[in-house]
Amino acid sequence: MNYKNLNQAIASLQMLHNFYSTIRIYDTGYNRILYENKKSNGLKEAAETTLFFQEAAFCIPKQKDTLEIYIPLSINGQPCRLELIQRNKKEYGDDVLHSMQELIITDSLTNLYNRRFIDEQLPKDLEKTYQSNNPLSLIYIDIDYFKEINDHYGHIIGDLILKEIASTFLQILWRKNGWAARYGGDEFLLCLPGISRKSSIKIANRIRLAVEEKTFYSVNPVIKITCSLGLLTVHKSSNVHTVNEVIELLDRKLYQAKKEGRNKVIL
Ligand code: GH3
Ligand code: MG
Repeated sequence: MNYKNLNQAIASLQMLHNFYSTIRIYDTGYNRILYENKKSNGLKEAAETTLFFQEAAFCIPKQKDTLEIYIPLSINGQPCRLELIQRNKKEYGDDVLHSMQELIITDSLTNLYNRRFIDEQLPKDLEKTYQSNNPLSLIYIDIDYFKEINDHYGHIIGDLILKEIASTFLQILWRKNGWAARYGGDEFLLCLPGISRKSSIKIANRIRLAVEEKTFYSVNPVIKITCSLGLLTVHKSSNVHTVNEVIELLDRKLYQAKKEGRNKVIL
């Protein structure tokens, strides 16, 4: 999980307060606590927010009635560790684990799945496709000229727009099987198992149009945005086999959409 700053990281932890007696963000580079919430002591926040770190493992050790989970985080590009401690493991166990798993695979800004989820799930979905007679359609999306939006209106408005665009995807996909994820920055990946090329072309065009027609009211004057899309349908006899090949093909299609003037779906 990557956060821009400590406040953003803390905000994303809110739901966990129901489950853990102690929540801590630890700066592993400087060996110091940046944030700590102990139920008995109330909220405590360390004053310093300069940050660093290294990879840590997701783990559940050791004391009998204690659940401890360590999760690597990046804050402001610097590595830290989220520590979750629950003294009454029996009372909370499954719920806690479920929440943690959700947190690990969720993009904190858009609430879509994140890159970690893509890396875990896409190989599985591809494998299933090659073992069945069902197609798998993938739509790769990149917002057009998003850097200019940030430069012109600022990152906070940029963030709001990313959220709104993500919810547009979900509105269009809500009755479909599959998942929507933020690949990173202004790039998104939609995975639609069982959806044919023909149907996925319709879906991609609906998304393109929905974004084009959407008015972002967060600022005055209102902002208009477009996006470019690459579409790929794979099936048992496709020539693409690995996740890398899939992403590379989608990337090329996206590049072509940009080259051809943006606001386009490339098949
Ligand atoms: P293009 O049409 O070629 O895609 O132009 P672009 O300006 O969108 O270029 P590109 O996709 O390379 O740039 C992505 C920009 O997205 C860069 C950065 O300013 C912005 N961005 C990435 N992540 C975030 C984020 O979390 N929040 C905000 N507000 N902006 C982000
Ligand atoms: Mg872009």
